[in-house]
Amino acid sequence: MEKGSITGLPKTYNPHAVEKRLYDWWEKQGHFAPETQFEKGLASREQKPFVISMPPSNITGELHIGHALVMAIEDLMIRWHRMRGEPTLWLPGNDHASIGTHNVIEQALDNRTADDLLREIGYLLPDDDRPLTRYDLGREWFVRLGWAWKERYGGVINRQLRRLGASCDWKRERFTMDEGLSRAVRTSFVQLYHKGLIYRGYYMVNWCSRCGTAVSDLEVIHQEETTHLWYVRYPLIGNGWEGPQAEWGSGRWAKGATEWIEVATTRPETILGDTAVAVNPSDERYTEVVGHTAVLPAIGRRIPIIADSVVDPDFGTGAVKVTPAHDPTDYEMGTRHGLEMPDVMNDDATMSELAGLYAGQGTYECRRNIVADLEKEGLLVRIEDHQHALGHCQRCDQVIEPRLSTQWFVRIKPLAEAALAAVRDGRIKIIPERFTKVYYNWLENIHDWCISRQLYWGHRIPVWYCDDCDELTVTMEDPTSCQACGSTNIRQDPDILDTWFSSALWPFSTLGWPDDTEDLRYFYPTTILETGYDILFFWVARMIMMGLECAGDIPFHYVYLHGMVRDEHGQKMSRSKGNVVDPLEVMDEYGTDALRFTLLTGSTPGNDVNLSLTRMEANRNFANKIWNAARFVISVLAAKRPGDQAFQPLDAETRRRYDALTLPDRWILSRHNRLIADVTRLFEDYNFGEAGRQIYDFLWGEYCDWFIEMSKIRLYGEDDEAKDVAQQVLVYVLDRTVRLLHPFMPFVTEEIWQHLPHGGEALIVAPWPEAGPMDEAAEAQMALIMEIVRAIRNARAKYKVEPGRRIEAIIAAGDEYELLSGQSDVLITAARLDADKLHIARTLEEKPTQALGLVVGGVEIYLPLAGMVDLAKERQRLAEEIEEVTKGIARSEKLLANEDFLAKAPAQVVERERDKLAGYRQRQAKLQERLQSLQD
Ligand SMILES: [Zn+2]
Ligand SMILES: [Zn+2]
Repeated sequence: MEKGSITGLPKTYNPHAVEKRLYDWWEKQGHFAPETQFEKGLASREQKPFVISMPPSNITGELHIGHALVMAIEDLMIRWHRMRGEPTLWLPGNDHASIGTHNVIEQALDNRTADDLLREIGYLLPDDDRPLTRYDLGREWFVRLGWAWKERYGGVINRQLRRLGASCDWKRERFTMDEGLSRAVRTSFVQLYHKGLIYRGYYMVNWCSRCGTAVSDLEVIHQEETTHLWYVRYPLIGNGWEGPQAEWGSGRWAKGATEWIEVATTRPETILGDTAVAVNPSDERYTEVVGHTAVLPAIGRRIPIIADSVVDPDFGTGAVKVTPAHDPTDYEMGTRHGLEMPDVMNDDATMSELAGLYAGQGTYECRRNIVADLEKEGLLVRIEDHQHALGHCQRCDQVIEPRLSTQWFVRIKPLAEAALAAVRDGRIKIIPERFTKVYYNWLENIHDWCISRQLYWGHRIPVWYCDDCDELTVTMEDPTSCQACGSTNIRQDPDILDTWFSSALWPFSTLGWPDDTEDLRYFYPTTILETGYDILFFWVARMIMMGLECAGDIPFHYVYLHGMVRDEHGQKMSRSKGNVVDPLEVMDEYGTDALRFTLLTGSTPGNDVNLSLTRMEANRNFANKIWNAARFVISVLAAKRPGDQAFQPLDAETRRRYDALTLPDRWILSRHNRLIADVTRLFEDYNFGEAGRQIYDFLWGEYCDWFIEMSKIRLYGEDDEAKDVAQQVLVYVLDRTVRLLHPFMPFVTEEIWQHLPHGGEALIVAPWPEAGPMDEAAEAQMALIMEIVRAIRNARAKYKVEPGRRIEAIIAAGDEYELLSGQSDVLITAARLDADKLHIARTLEEKPTQALGLVVGGVEIYLPLAGMVDLAKERQRLAEEIEEVTKGIARSEKLLANEDFLAKAPAQVVERERDKLAGYRQRQAKLQERLQSLQD
């Protein structure tokens, strides 16, 4: 690429011709790696590095607009710090996404689209084409298939990130299941286990019967749904009734009972697992029955009526059934009151042996049957519609059952306390700050973390059970015998770890932990973790806990949370609404820079981004606008000094010594320095959106629309020295402004910069500009001139003066006489005045007649009408228009005087007519005034 030459700069900016070429070039030159900064002397190892761990992409994923926002913000920060000369590392990678990958692969097994991959890995396929399940394959084949699948289809997002311009260090790319990270997972599990922070227990978990595993809270999506509330009565023992004397379903089961307690439930099938009925102790309706015994329908179990303050007296009847094995609140009540906890469901959402007559039925089948039976026995009181938030599996949409189950847990309290302290004492700052409270609140009320999953794809739990002595062996190396008794009768726990367990280690496992590597010592703790506010707890809080516990330090100093991307009306994007914006399509149509600029200028910390295609188009036009401005600047350089490589842009020293700077030069330099100071401050405050908007306004509104136009006076003039100064200022300001814009729009700015006279190899590593002195006087003076020009332009528009016509102007400048006389060239060019008919005086002896008078500050401007319009023709036109309006007034007045109309027409119609008349009268007065001013 030739510097300072228009060669190779096409007429319009074509992103597709530029983006891939530049990205590959940056990468080939090593600009994404901190080592290159050291080698080229752009930064030194003595400095503190700026480090971001990129949130690992799921191997099953595709780039969606939410990722695009995350990556755009992180790349902006990385590029900015790199330009500031800080050693910069942005470390990318992939997450094995256990349950997500399971779902994709299991679906492929189910519809047999994984057959060719299975053949490839040597799996013997069955003769028929029945659907396959993960259980058909078994663990070993499934895991092999997983790796083959990843090899062929995985990591799509990382390729797409290149299109987005992500300047991350691909040489350091990691995968949560690679050898090093697997060792990190093993090490942390073994350490936590031996410290007593990991244990095995029988507790309440979220169970997805479709996926056949426990799932994390994050994987449960709550949806508001209309369901039913069933009111059921349980007979009470006593008053002559000693329990059912007939079989369930005979219709005579509750015969003879006289007292009842009525409960309301959204899940009648769970009645089978009830072990109590509970009421609030302060609920006077039930004081009498507390301590009595009810008989559980269908099962016949005798259950106590208990009092517990957790019961909401306003829900249903105020009496609730207690099912400790299938509801978290009931589980706690069960623990408090020492109740039994029968699990009436199997792993696959069928009813278990403990469900009695209903054993083996699916949950919904059981629900239908038990409701019918309750009705038959006269125990169903009524059914109501009910709004209810129901948990669904994020991966497969199956309704999640809360369920008691034997799982592995992390004892979270001690870890949470350390994580709370790290934010409380300011070691970690959360931006925006309002999320700090949410963070405290969540960690203060945290429950133990269930980390085992009944799946195959992931890190196997490193625990071996001994069949001879019941002891567990938990070691770094796979054991061959029991540590306690030496028996070789041992078997490994079949479960794997929650995906979030390995992602919680991400900031340090990727840098080499548990080894004491150079990367870990230099880059850890990382600087900032940037992510959507929706995974603050599930990921961010866990990284903080594990970082402190395992790596012995906070994982990052700052947490920056951005919002969700919504559509232009603020609606959540979803496939069903059809309002999903695909970032790849947008990049195809508008270019990557337009997408990035739209995402980045639409966002403020923690707030959602409303994405509109209109903005996208406007920002593509912005890229074109800068392109054209650059082409103009480069073309004037080329015309003056063809092929001159030695041209140096205006440096601060030269600028100070130049007495040839004009007012517009001083003005644009001052505005430019102010912009640099503002943008830098806004970047420091994480207010990237506002910074982008200011750069946009400066480039378009001040540099292109004003400065380039004003500089043409000198560029097209005869004075060579003036020409030279204009060129220098044009290049100087453009060069430093594209540096500011580079983190937002990396491609168009690099391409322009490569064609501008420059020192250094690439804009991506060019120094971030520093703000020079501001020139308040120049800014104030230019502001006045611009205001005068705008006033004259408005007058021209109002009188419909043809754009090409140069008009006469008489100016009483007062104290601004020297300023305006000095800048008459600017006024003439910008307001299209007739150079021979511009009169600037300190004061006027006599005010011009038949002229339009404008006042701007202390300056009076008179524009003789004869200079703008053909007087006779204009008078004629005005007279005709007045006649039209007068007719309208007459029509309207007549209508409003008509009693019939007033009586019959709707009030709004009358009102509208009155408004119309008032409008006519106003217009008539204005036209007459204008006509008056044109009379001799
Ligand atoms: Zn599921
Ligand atoms: Zn043993």
